Amino acid sequence: MITVNTIDELLKATSTFKGSVGFVPTMGALHEGHLSLIRQARKENDSVVVSIFVNPTQFLEGEDLDAYPRKEEADAKICELAGVDILFMPTAQMMYEKDELSIIAPAIRGFILEGTKRPGHFDGMLQIVMKLLNLIAYNKPSAFRAYFGKKDAQQLALITQMVKNYFINVQIVPCDIVRDKDGLALSSRNLYLSKEERVRALSLSRSLKRATELVMQKEFDTSTIITEMKKVLTEVEVEYVVLVNREFKPIEQVELGNTIILVAAKVGTTRLIDNLWI
Ligand code: AMP
Repeated sequence: MITVNTIDELLKATSTFKGSVGFVPTMGALHEGHLSLIRQARKENDSVVVSIFVNPTQFLEGEDLDAYPRKEEADAKICELAGVDILFMPTAQMMYEKDELSIIAPAIRGFILEGTKRPGHFDGMLQIVMKLLNLIAYNKPSAFRAYFGKKDAQQLALITQMVKNYFINVQIVPCDIVRDKDGLALSSRNLYLSKEERVRALSLSRSLKRATELVMQKEFDTSTIITEMKKVLTEVEVEYVVLVNREFKPIEQVELGNTIILVAAKVGTTRLIDNLWI
């Protein structure tokens, strides 16, 4: 594995690639969720690139940019063991100019749910993903795939839309959510949770399990499902519980094969999201 910190080094390294390239963008503090994306990329491509970059433009004022966990040495080891070819770890100065052209998330999909709770977050996220996709594709691989977790479902939907709207030559590969044995969706932010908070955080996945039970009993009315989910979400500060279709439009009835159930809640000061695709 080669670790590169500059754009020049990255382009030099990717210029020797032959065949397909799989790319996994991350913000580091890697866990099994990230690893599942890397493993899939390894399986499906000749070369694999992972980026680790805590992107400042997607954090709002007062969010955890400075506190965000950074574990570069451990992350590099994990990547090496997983068979990554290039680990790209740029600095913010390298990635941004002062007066940048910006990307604005679309009005409907971008300004509900996470877009309302974190205004501007998706603009910054799309901006960095566009930059990274263009950089990794710069040397024109024969096929280019980028791997994203369904854990960040709205992010995945917006990136898919950006690739379509801007005709970017990449295949976006959605990857399943990886959970701890007890159901908690893995997230770098779980590191912030105290023991007691981690127990309370389990109510997010439990509420999704409750929703599954209801759907299996043929309860398709979304307001009933939301009411029942909220009964499980008692020990956290709920931000939203919502059922949408794959287009991210809120729905009144569950459509099997076309529904995402999303939940966001604060546990202490830590904000967590989780979801279920049914
Ligand atoms: P992050 O480092 O949090 O920006 O995440 C990098 C990528 O890993 C994103 O595509 C996430 O959706 C994905 N990811 C994060 N957590 C999980 C998880 N528990 N299961 C699957 N993918 C995940």
